[in-house]
Amino acid sequence: MVNVRERLAHVQQQVIDRNPGESEFHQAVAEVLGCLGPVLERYPQYSEYKIIERICEPERQVIFRVPWEDDRGEIQINRGFRVQYNSALGPYKGGLRFHPSVYLGIVKFLGFEQVFKNALTGMPIGGGKGGADFDPKGKSDAEVMRFCQSFMTELYRYLGEYIDVPAGDIGVGGREIGFLFGQYKRLSGKYESGVLTGKNPAWGGALVRRESTGYGAVFFVDEMLRARDQSLEGKTCVVSGAGNVAIYTIEKTHQLGGKVVACSDSGGVVYDPEGIDLELVKRLKEVERRRIKDYVDYRRTAVFREEGNIWDIPCQVAIPAATQNELDAADARRLVAHGCLAVGEGANMPTTPAGIRVFEEAGVAFGPGKATNAGGVATSALEMQQNACRDSWTFQYTETRLREIMTGVHQRCWDTAAEFGHPGNYVVGANIAGFVRVAEAMLAFGLV
Ligand code: GLU
Repeated sequence: MVNVRERLAHVQQQVIDRNPGESEFHQAVAEVLGCLGPVLERYPQYSEYKIIERICEPERQVIFRVPWEDDRGEIQINRGFRVQYNSALGPYKGGLRFHPSVYLGIVKFLGFEQVFKNALTGMPIGGGKGGADFDPKGKSDAEVMRFCQSFMTELYRYLGEYIDVPAGDIGVGGREIGFLFGQYKRLSGKYESGVLTGKNPAWGGALVRRESTGYGAVFFVDEMLRARDQSLEGKTCVVSGAGNVAIYTIEKTHQLGGKVVACSDSGGVVYDPEGIDLELVKRLKEVERRRIKDYVDYRRTAVFREEGNIWDIPCQVAIPAATQNELDAADARRLVAHGCLAVGEGANMPTTPAGIRVFEEAGVAFGPGKATNAGGVATSALEMQQNACRDSWTFQYTETRLREIMTGVHQRCWDTAAEFGHPGNYVVGANIAGFVRVAEAMLAFGLV
């Protein structure tokens, strides 16, 4: 019998060969497979039934043309994607990303992550992801609407509350979900609330869904700190990004007594030693859709650094909440040198593998995205519950549920890491706990 390590290396090589050029996907797979050695040793049936090989291959991948007309009357063509990755635990569930960098490799990496993240929440949801190489930046509302309508005109036939339930991700927020839902309703002829999540609470959305990824990330970081007899109270924090995840990460950090001194967007970094003025960031980003550099026009205490590196700023807690591979080994070393105690990934895979190693070696508490940012999709599952029973819960009740779910995710990672001989290693804990839940369901279903 081939030994476990060779088997995993072989699967990894197969993934590289069969998915050429998709480096982010290779990276996400390597992170999970790198943790599975002891699992295969304990459960030989996973090898016998080729669970890992099957998990690495998405169940279905759809790529489609999205034609639309811009405000000048010119025709634009984008490429749309939906990767229905794994439905062992429930309908495919995961967001849509609209960003010029989107290609199949990004959607597959996100879908793969989503499978284990969703499993880790303990909720009945499979994993999927989608999006388009459309750049919403600088587009009018009318252009965004026409794009969303065309995107949904192709995608709607693959969706359904028991089939596949998209939500938002980078570039897809409340406005886009509204346009997408409107077109789905029109095409399908039914008010199928549970087909999309992240809806406006005025028409079927869950309260707290907007805040949930950021709030959940802070709850997870709070749990990591508690496990070390620490708390967020009085801690200096840095949160990269200025989108949905970053904004509500900052909000909850401030509520729990931490002080966020910096945030960023693709144009640069804002450093405000007095603490980020969140109402100002919300107005600039959520209402006026402006760049973060404009922040300094309203706050004398702040400085803006174009192309600055946010990880130069000393902090005790760092929450990368912008995008993949935004924090590398050099950044990690700088954070460690400045006394950083805890890092929680608000974004998906923001830390490079070498960066993660630096944190591990330095003994920094490191929460991987599939655990730390699971609060978003978990609250999407709460939204599906409310839609299924035609109910709407209060903010307070829903937030309490979210907190309980994040405490549960932390506990599952903690216990699993200890059980497999890596106490305190949340990467190992998250990957193994998520994987085993999916693998058990797949085994039960036979060869499908
Ligand atoms: N895009 C989010 C994520 O990365 C949320 C997905 C969802 O709510 O379905 O988990």
